[in-house]
Amino acid sequence: MTTAALWIAASLLSAASAVAATSSPPSPVLPASAAQHIINVDVAIVGAGASGAYAAIRLKEDFGKSIAVIDKSSRLGGHVSTFDDLSTGKPFDFGVNSYNDYGPAKDFFNRLGISFSPAPRVALTQRFVDFQTGRPVAYEPSSNQDRKAALQKFLTVTEPYEKFLLPGYWNFPQPRDIPEDLFLPFAQFVNKYNISACANQVFEVTGMGVGDFQNSLTMYVLSAFNQPMIRTFLGNGTIFTPNSRRNIEVYEKIQARLGSDLLLGSTVVQSERANNGHSLWVENGTTGRYTLVKAKKLLIAIQPTKQNMEPFNLDRTEKAVFDKLEQSVVHCGIVTHPSLPIDVSIVNIPAAGAPANYMALPKPNFNARFDYMGGNSTNWRVLMVGKKDLNKDKAQGIANKNFEDMVKRGTLSSGGPTNLEIKAWSEHGAVNMHASAREIRNGFIQRQYALQGHKGTWWTGGAFSHQFQAVLWAFDDVLITKMLA
Ligand SMILES: Cc1cc2nc3c(=O)[nH]c(=O)nc-3n(C[C@H](O)[C@H](O)[C@H](O)COP(=O)(O)OP(=O)(O)OC[C@H]3O[C@@H](n4cnc5c(N)ncnc54)[C@H](O)[C@@H]3O)c2cc1C
Repeated sequence: MTTAALWIAASLLSAASAVAATSSPPSPVLPASAAQHIINVDVAIVGAGASGAYAAIRLKEDFGKSIAVIDKSSRLGGHVSTFDDLSTGKPFDFGVNSYNDYGPAKDFFNRLGISFSPAPRVALTQRFVDFQTGRPVAYEPSSNQDRKAALQKFLTVTEPYEKFLLPGYWNFPQPRDIPEDLFLPFAQFVNKYNISACANQVFEVTGMGVGDFQNSLTMYVLSAFNQPMIRTFLGNGTIFTPNSRRNIEVYEKIQARLGSDLLLGSTVVQSERANNGHSLWVENGTTGRYTLVKAKKLLIAIQPTKQNMEPFNLDRTEKAVFDKLEQSVVHCGIVTHPSLPIDVSIVNIPAAGAPANYMALPKPNFNARFDYMGGNSTNWRVLMVGKKDLNKDKAQGIANKNFEDMVKRGTLSSGGPTNLEIKAWSEHGAVNMHASAREIRNGFIQRQYALQGHKGTWWTGGAFSHQFQAVLWAFDDVLITKMLA
């Protein structure tokens, strides 16, 4: 360890003791002289996923702001995971699947010079299996006609609420005016409007991200499967991907345009925030070097989990909001095994789903399915949803157990290695950050949105809006106007 590194380690240690000894926010332990570089910018952006990367382009190119963008990853794009498969020479997207034609999405693609077309679909035969046992389930999906009728009703009932929810909760009603439907646990909402024929589709496409689908508040199911998405499934909207069929192309293009504004592989380890400016000590995870970013404004575009927020010394007002958030966790992987069937999607349906109980759905922690990914490959996608503590080892363990059980029961043919081969894996971390009905009735959304600009700090990302890239871009458009007003 170099002298400088030793000094920093000792300082951090003494800071840790100081924090333990007092409940007041820790004072900075890294002086400006600890930084190898000092950067002065108009806006520092922490996080370069969907919301941070889009905001960076707009602030830099449309408003002429100097920016510094900090991301812990070595690349941009957050939940986008493109696997460039050397064995087929083809790309396979196993995180973000496609982009919705919502708000600025198509204009943004044009601006980046990315040609695009409707997202291709791999035609798959569905097999239904209870992943708890590995046994087939005699499940009969709802007919196209019934599903469409239910989706149409879902849209008709929820369309009046769209203005409260999209592209974020800017116009969310005061607690006494919130429509009761938005508070209903989704299973009750489905019963109330008799729309179970579309429940499985809502779950399978994106709704599963909410975790406990049956008990999730309808307003949060709508943040994972919103009205524009319903319209798409009714044939009145499009979803598209780059013609390269590499969703990561969007973020590669952004990365090229942001160039030296990026501090990748880096995290904020300490900060001082105030209305009139911020100092962020940013550590590069590879070199261990520090950059001091001094910014007039701060835009936080990472999930506001407890761990992520530690370096920002949240004050009481901020903690009162973020402490109330709960989350699900998602992992996606590409796996392979000779026993997995080509052209098939093996869908996880509890035995109670037979023959047509459409609200019998897996509960966290679960693997939603094994989907063949097409392209003459030997790739299957797994999609794992769980509670906060679902780490990579547990998630991969569940996928393997599901597979082994199907082989044991004869649902899949035996032979070959015992375990799945994992070709690619991506930990998506916290998604669907949400508050309880009680908190929302107590003005949670209003308190959350009042944080915009508090301590010169602005907030974007899934926890403030919806779980869709294009919606977050539209959310950023509103946010930036307010931020620069
Ligand atoms: C599996 C999956 C599939 C999805 N499919 C689609 C889809 O098909 N279409 C669609 O529109 N949406 C899809 N979504 C939703 C969409 O991707 C998210 O809503 C969106 O990415 C959220 O954007 P964000 O900016 O809030 O966070 P993210 O995109 O997650 O970006 C957060 C960024 O912050 C960085 N970061 C995190 N912590 C720190 C830290 N402490 N310090 C520095 N950097 C940090 C991360 O590396 C990341 O780059 C999908 C989501 C998942 C999980």
